[in-house]
Amino acid sequence: MVTDDTDLLRIVELGKSYRSRERNVDALAGITLSVRDGEFVAVVGPSGCGKTTLLKIVAGLLPASTGEVFLAGRPVTEPPADLGVVFQEYGRSLFAWKTVRQNVELPLRHRGLGRAQRRELVAEALDAVGLAQAAQAYPWQLSGGMQQRVAIARAIAYRPRLLLMDEPFSAVDAQTRGDLEDLLATLWRRYAMTVLFVTHDIDEAVYLGQRVVVLGAAPSGIVAQFPIDLPAVRDQIGTRSAARFGELRAQVYAQVRRTPEPTSPQPHEVTTR
Ligand code: ADP
Ligand code: MG
Repeated sequence: MVTDDTDLLRIVELGKSYRSRERNVDALAGITLSVRDGEFVAVVGPSGCGKTTLLKIVAGLLPASTGEVFLAGRPVTEPPADLGVVFQEYGRSLFAWKTVRQNVELPLRHRGLGRAQRRELVAEALDAVGLAQAAQAYPWQLSGGMQQRVAIARAIAYRPRLLLMDEPFSAVDAQTRGDLEDLLATLWRRYAMTVLFVTHDIDEAVYLGQRVVVLGAAPSGIVAQFPIDLPAVRDQIGTRSAARFGELRAQVYAQVRRTPEPTSPQPHEVTTR
């Protein structure tokens, strides 16, 4: 395996089987993927292909069956400190009886930071997601999109080097979703984070990613990868209506569906670094 100093995340020959007395489920098989420091990688694949399993292992929440994960060169065996995670079910990930500020502050309490420093980080994170005015509100008083902003603020408050996101916007309406995608792109740039973003939405993967990784059906391996050569700064109308966006989306779609694509050029070689 070739190592590269600029890789923040290295996933090596990762496999996962869920074993119980009743049945075994092979979820992941031989995933090898490296993500450069500062890169935005979108992982796309059909429902049930193992996307959540992959993120849970990278987050140190679930042990791998085979293979290894390295974050900044260190093997991941428990949730790493410099990691932020946003899951799909924001409703369940926020504490209803705590205010927005308290929800965002919670992970900071375990970091040995002083009260003033925590307050400052929380205020800055809430400001970054446009929720400075909602600090004293309770999650149940907010819309789904605002709740997901709280979850994002909580994940970025302590400036993680790696942000993992599991279909974070799939439960909100289309308008809100576009706003959240653009907010994420802005935060990624501003904080120079590395993002591993999982989605079943091909358009979203192409819109957000610098690279799109396609997972096959379970037990999943990587079936294709596409560098996304769209302009760095994207916008919902211009980018999505660009001819190149349509071409990339069609190429990714063909791989997800595993159907040959008669008119477009062949997709890039499968490359796993
Ligand atoms: P995705 O997020 O892409 O929809 P998952 O990672 O949730 O896929 O699931 C991948 C496969 O592993 C599915 O077949 C799913 O049923 C199975 N699976 C997920 N979690 C468990 C578990 N805790 N026990 C047994 N099987 C599981
Ligand atoms: Mg999932």
